[in-house]
Amino acid sequence: MEILVTNPTDKTITPTINFLSVEMVEHHHNWMVYSTALCPPTIMVYCKDCGEEGSVSDFSEDEWDNAFWAPEEEYPWPDKDRVSVNKHKEKGE
Ligand SMILES: [Zn+2]
Repeated sequence: MEILVTNPTDKTITPTINFLSVEMVEHHHNWMVYSTALCPPTIMVYCKDCGEEGSVSDFSEDEWDNAFWAPEEEYPWPDKDRVSVNKHKEKGE
């Protein structure tokens, strides 16, 4: 007597591992406008991924008008080429 055993639920499970370390090597800042400064006129931005702060001093009137409302509602700043990353100064002089 022959017994055939079939198992239709037998599937090979392949674990999927996503390595995110590439992002650590080359991080593209995700700039958000959050405020403006007046002296000198500067659009203030920060990276919502790593918290880095930067500023934009080369902007159009429209961009300045939009940025005026950034403290109410921050929004993405797409042109990373115009962002100057703030240098973190050491405490003390
Ligand atoms: Zn960043």
